[in-house]
Amino acid sequence: MASLGNFQSTNEIIKKHRFTFQKKFGQNFLIDERVLNKIISAAELEKDDYVIEIGPGIGTMTQYLCEQAGFVSAIEIDKDLIPILKETLDSYDNFEVINDDVLKVDLKGLIEKNGNGKPCKVVANLPYYITTPIIMSLLESRVPIESITVMVQKEVADRMMVGPGTKDYGALSLAVQYYAKPYIVANVPMNCFVPRPNVDSAVIRLTCHKDAPVEVKDEKLMFKLIRASFNQRRKTLVNGISNFAELSYSKAEITEALNKIGLSETIRGEALDLSQFAELANALSEK
Ligand code: SAM
Repeated sequence: MASLGNFQSTNEIIKKHRFTFQKKFGQNFLIDERVLNKIISAAELEKDDYVIEIGPGIGTMTQYLCEQAGFVSAIEIDKDLIPILKETLDSYDNFEVINDDVLKVDLKGLIEKNGNGKPCKVVANLPYYITTPIIMSLLESRVPIESITVMVQKEVADRMMVGPGTKDYGALSLAVQYYAKPYIVANVPMNCFVPRPNVDSAVIRLTCHKDAPVEVKDEKLMFKLIRASFNQRRKTLVNGISNFAELSYSKAEITEALNKIGLSETIRGEALDLSQFAELANALSEK
């Protein structure tokens, strides 16, 4: 079958199946072959790779994935797309379509079944309404994933990349950088999709760390400290942490821990980098 990565073929398939776009599912289909090629090349697929695709839509990128990888599990929430995928993927036999919400699928089980003992690669043009929950659940679930190559809103890609001192810096930046090394592959304008989204997009590749980049004794505590800091961004870290319901450190204890790692008690959380959050968590975990 000819590539679906252009407006004409996409439009034909949609009309033929009388498919109506569902805004609630974040359906913006890719219609640009150059962008598709960039995603596929950034994913660095090999013939024995197991790929999980989130939201195949009409199967545009799935076709490329089936060509390049060993086996593909394509997880699609919209049941109306299932008969379309049956048609567009007809010439491949190395895939399965799972009609479900990706956040409810047992990814660990899928990888055990299909991964040949290797970690999987996640490739997707993500639905923007749940980008952060999807990325966070992939990273936090500790399932064996080698890399995540995804299209996201440009603003979200920027948030994943930045460090202290920028307005985009926050809990997402720190979580992504703790679990992976982010790299923006390409910026993608609105006219590469149908229907056009009203935001610009970017392809980002997260190469998952084999070992964490910082040593932290209590990961959960570190992420609570991070959330406490960015919940009340304009407050000092001492106030942010002492006001945070899930933590019970006194102002004196927080001040002492900050001083121990060479930071002032007037510092705001947004000024700390990942290694400083790890040091702070280590200092507080002794209390
Ligand atoms: N991969 C296609 C492409 O690039 O043209 C479609 C991408 S579109 C941005 C996002 C896709 O994710 C849609 O097909 C949508 O139905 C699907 N989707 C939305 N929410 C989902 C969820 N929770 N689980 C699985 N798929 C979902």
